[in-house]
Amino acid sequence: MAIKCPKCGLTVILNSGDKENIFCTFCGYDSKIMEIKKVWVSWINTDLTEGRGRQIPLCVCESKATSIRMGRKKNVQGCNAEIRDAIAVKYEGKWLGPCNIISPSSEDKIEDAKENNYQIAKEKAKKLGLSEEDISALKNR
Ligand SMILES: [Zn+2]
Repeated sequence: MAIKCPKCGLTVILNSGDKENIFCTFCGYDSKIMEIKKVWVSWINTDLTEGRGRQIPLCVCESKATSIRMGRKKNVQGCNAEIRDAIAVKYEGKWLGPCNIISPSSEDKIEDAKENNYQIAKEKAKKLGLSEEDISALKNR
């Protein structure tokens, strides 16, 4: 199924036949992005005593004045938050803005690998005809 991109006008081929979700590989248009706006962020450190932690957003505001007011005396040793502008995107009806994504620790990576291996084994077991009940019976022994 082919449809024209509403932004660049080029023909986009839809593999799923889903008219609602358009992603244009030419211009990057994504129909799930409904709106984009400038926001103001009050950044603070996770370590309020020495400032040796990570920078995290205390709040994301429409107005610079709001971000200054909200960030007043909220940073390291009662200093003001660092105010910076950023972009927020309305994606599938929800606003997405700046955040601090935490990297996994080495222990977390081991846990993720265990979970991944479990899911792979479970899929194999299901393909061989085991039910959810069979799998939990094996797991809970
Ligand atoms: Zn396009």
